[in-house]
Amino acid sequence: MQFRSLLLLACFSCTGAIVRQQHAFLHAAHGQSSGLLQRQEYGYHSTDEIHQELVALSSRCHGMTLDTKQAGSQFIDVVTIKAPGSKPLNKNFMLFGEHARELISPESSLHFIKTLCGETGDNDRASRILKDSEFQMVVNANPESRKAVEQGDACLRSNPNGVDLNRNWAKGWEPVAPFAFMSQTSGGEKPFSEPETQLFKELVSAYKPTMFLSIHSGTKGMYMPWAFNGTATTRNQAAMLDVLNAVDKNHCECPFGAMGKALGYKCDGTSLDWVYDELKTPYAFTFEIYGPPSENDGLRDAWRKQTQTAGAFYQGQALHPLHFSERQTDLVQVKGEPSDAGHCFSLFNPDSKATYDSTVQTWSAAYLDTAELVAANMKKQGF
Ligand SMILES: [Zn+2]
Repeated sequence: MQFRSLLLLACFSCTGAIVRQQHAFLHAAHGQSSGLLQRQEYGYHSTDEIHQELVALSSRCHGMTLDTKQAGSQFIDVVTIKAPGSKPLNKNFMLFGEHARELISPESSLHFIKTLCGETGDNDRASRILKDSEFQMVVNANPESRKAVEQGDACLRSNPNGVDLNRNWAKGWEPVAPFAFMSQTSGGEKPFSEPETQLFKELVSAYKPTMFLSIHSGTKGMYMPWAFNGTATTRNQAAMLDVLNAVDKNHCECPFGAMGKALGYKCDGTSLDWVYDELKTPYAFTFEIYGPPSENDGLRDAWRKQTQTAGAFYQGQALHPLHFSERQTDLVQVKGEPSDAGHCFSLFNPDSKATYDSTVQTWSAAYLDTAELVAANMKKQGF
């Protein structure tokens, strides 16, 4: 019997964690067959189905290429979309699915690719955006762990080595999680110790994006550097904030701003901070695209208060810690829950067909808007 050591409930890309009891795959698989069927009805794809869809799309979508890269034991799909003959000034690199249990992140990627390929309705808009923007996407960054999630290990966040792929980048990296038991947020033995982060680093460095976006779930929020400390960044701050403000208002109504500052605690070794700092990428963001619906009112209230005091951001004052306090309360409540995979699934992922559909549609539109606004800002900035 294969035991996976301590599993944690960590509810967004960057968070403290709640310890769960050790449990076996077999235990986790208890009662999962009906859950898997139900999730297929909602619209979810298995890792294999995502790959098959990408293969099929690449054969009929003009300007799309699919490249499957090996990173250690994992085979990772990389999609590039560039309209034939175009010379876009905005190069968008998007990283989906670093955390395996956040199934909805790669789902939103697949829907977005279909949108760019003109298969979800608004072909004219997609064509317009592809004049000024091209895209490279890591669609499903942690596929072997995602497969374990699909088999019922629904709280699994880390890669097959037990390392958090969004803690293993060199900026603000820390050697171990603050407590030994926080194994799912382990940053690994050293920065870029993992074959997956080595691959992502190589890809993003070669692509030289002008916009970088890492996509997560567990709450809703729209963030920019820094994550590794509680200060706001200065390079291109106003232009990045301008994009977040507009996309947030239209699609999220959720907290936004400098990640560590807005959350009220730091996140070490994230892709967001490394890309922004090392590659000098002008626009670097992390989106949290789904949280339990019971939190939506609180998140909207936090967003309203934040927009009323937006000037505080520029003055370097702390943003409201309201969101973080509420989240901590939720985490404490979660800690008392039995460690069942079904509960973990619904913390990170839509649990009905209606919410699945609205989430992938909303965020595909948000990704389009982000690319469009970044391109427009870049023109104004003289790129
Ligand atoms: Zn995450």
